[in-house]
Amino acid sequence: MATLDADLIARKLGYAASGDLILHLPLRYQDETRLTPLRDVRMGVDVLVEGVVVHAEVQMRPRRQLLVEIAESVTPGSAHLYFRLLHFYPSQLNQLQPGARVRLFGEVKPGFFGAEMVHPQMRVVRENTPLPATLTPVYPAVAAFSQNAIRKSVQTALAQADLSETLPASLLTGLQLPGFAEALNALHHPQPDADLNALETQTTPAWQRIKFDELLAQQLSLRLAAHQREQLGAVSLTGDGGLSVKLLAALPFALTAAQTRALNEIRRDLARPHPMNRLLQGDVGSGKTLVAALTLLPALAAGGQVAVMAPTEILAEQLFLKMHEWLTPLGMQVAWIAAATKGKAKKDSLARIASGEVNVAVGTHALFQAGVSFANLTLTIVDEQHRFGVGQRLALREKGGGIELGQVPHLLMMSATPIPRSLAMSYYADLDVSVIDELPPGRTPIATKVMSMKRRDEVIGRLRDYCQTGAQAYWVCPLVEESEKLQLRAAEESHAELVERLPELNIGLVHGRMKSVEKAAVMAAFKAGELHLLVATTVIEVGVDVPNAALMVIEHAERYGLAQLHQLRGRVGRGARESTCLLIYGDALSDNGRQRLSIIKQHADGFAIAREDLKLRGPGEFMGARQSGQHILRFANLETDIDLLEAARDAAEELLSRRPEVVDRHLARWLPRGLDYLRA
Ligand code: ADP
Ligand code: MG
Repeated sequence: MATLDADLIARKLGYAASGDLILHLPLRYQDETRLTPLRDVRMGVDVLVEGVVVHAEVQMRPRRQLLVEIAESVTPGSAHLYFRLLHFYPSQLNQLQPGARVRLFGEVKPGFFGAEMVHPQMRVVRENTPLPATLTPVYPAVAAFSQNAIRKSVQTALAQADLSETLPASLLTGLQLPGFAEALNALHHPQPDADLNALETQTTPAWQRIKFDELLAQQLSLRLAAHQREQLGAVSLTGDGGLSVKLLAALPFALTAAQTRALNEIRRDLARPHPMNRLLQGDVGSGKTLVAALTLLPALAAGGQVAVMAPTEILAEQLFLKMHEWLTPLGMQVAWIAAATKGKAKKDSLARIASGEVNVAVGTHALFQAGVSFANLTLTIVDEQHRFGVGQRLALREKGGGIELGQVPHLLMMSATPIPRSLAMSYYADLDVSVIDELPPGRTPIATKVMSMKRRDEVIGRLRDYCQTGAQAYWVCPLVEESEKLQLRAAEESHAELVERLPELNIGLVHGRMKSVEKAAVMAAFKAGELHLLVATTVIEVGVDVPNAALMVIEHAERYGLAQLHQLRGRVGRGARESTCLLIYGDALSDNGRQRLSIIKQHADGFAIAREDLKLRGPGEFMGARQSGQHILRFANLETDIDLLEAARDAAEELLSRRPEVVDRHLARWLPRGLDYLRA
């Protein structure tokens, strides 16, 4: 096969070059190493058979098809089999003249005339055509390319590639892993007696080797990225000229021990002349915003600028309000930039950011789009970092005003979603983590109740009494993931219904499609106590802080993810009132749905919920569609290959310190196009 075709096939399969096809691994295998005599075929089993055409005809009913009868041999009375081709070319009809010899692979089923194969794989052969000595691979395919074409391309790639060993023999012996070439051979061309089950569940030594290699490449590249960061310079920030003392003195509360600990870790990073790369984890309501504010003071004291970014406008606005409230009294200028900021207001803000007049710019990812330039960006803080894609995170790392001078901004990320251990060891291996494992004192526990839609009327009735006592409540409408339009309609319908049924209450509506000024106005009215009830979509999921709101009703709670429910529920329980969260489920509640709601009911701690969630779903899905969507690991599975991951981590450390040439060789094979995509 021409290399050109192999290149084309490789590209269609999603690879950069035909050489990558050596790692296009089979989905399964067919045993074409032995022929089953026609008289011995069993129903329901895939077999390779061979026979001589007795009769072939095109039938028109029930649909156009080619019906062929074959026999074991020309001897009268020998076993027969029928097969049907549902798509065929006129040339095939010509080939299948009586006396022609065919080889078929497929499943035998009982048919109208007896045993038959429906649309088997078929090949016209000469008598005594040799059989393959190994199992035949079946590859992941794309339309327009036959298995045969893909097989040939992979074969070409294997023949042309350099399959030499990248790893030291001692390492392989210690881990009982086969050599690379041996592993590939065992995967592309297994022996007929290979354990098919182990191959399909990807547990053979050959599979282990490939997965180990992949994990090792990931570990090596993450460590190298961390090392590269160490080479970069950043402004060393020590002390804040008494700003934090002033800020804290103005607050009605003191830092929790956990906040203090996290802050100390962060300040140690900031003092170093290299960029910080730290994740601050803390459950909903643990007080990450205040830690963020205290983090940026040393940067401000040093005359630097800080960018604070959040994934949604509502959340960014909440951050802006807090920063404004806390930092303006310290003489700082805090600016707001969102996608909706337009015209003169935007021009002014941009000019003030560019001139360095603005000390802190708060906004959505609009902050990192073209047109925004900082005079002296020293620190970037990203809230709810898990909602940003890899690309966006890379972009913000690159946005330092001083990059040309070899200085990059420090980076603090924050998240209420804990990272499972396996992910922490892999994707996040180059990240330092601080945890706030304590909530501020005086929080009222939230009573969570799970109830059926049948009790919805009763709930609406009680809302009236509840709100007339001066308390406020949220009504979260059903999630409609498929379409933003339908989501909007659901929110509007819920709102209209509640307005009609509760005329005594002031009821507001906030949803994702509103303009940010409208949203801000509704939120402000709710915060000021002018609205009793706020009907909302998940736009209120994070960051919203209204202590007097102590009741939350979530309709069709079963449609939400556990992390989302936990975040939503975190909007209540913020004041002195006893708080309640009502999870209302629809009629068709599945077992899994019931299980998930009971996890939320039983656990108040986000980390515990995440652990249960992980048990139900596994890390892949846990990372969720919100992640970049990049499947960084193709072969290894973080749920089942944790042992290999640990082995890879240990080996990476060893190789980096003692065998740099091995590191180069291994990365040249596994990440030939550089490290960038791993530096999430
Ligand atoms: P999250 O970690 O979810 O972002 P926030 O930063 O929004 O949490 O904090 C939740 C609430 O707790 C806010 O109203 C904040 O002012 C308050 N808070 C923060 N730290 C403390 C503390 N040490 N003591 C009391 N309240 C605090
Ligand atoms: Mg927050």
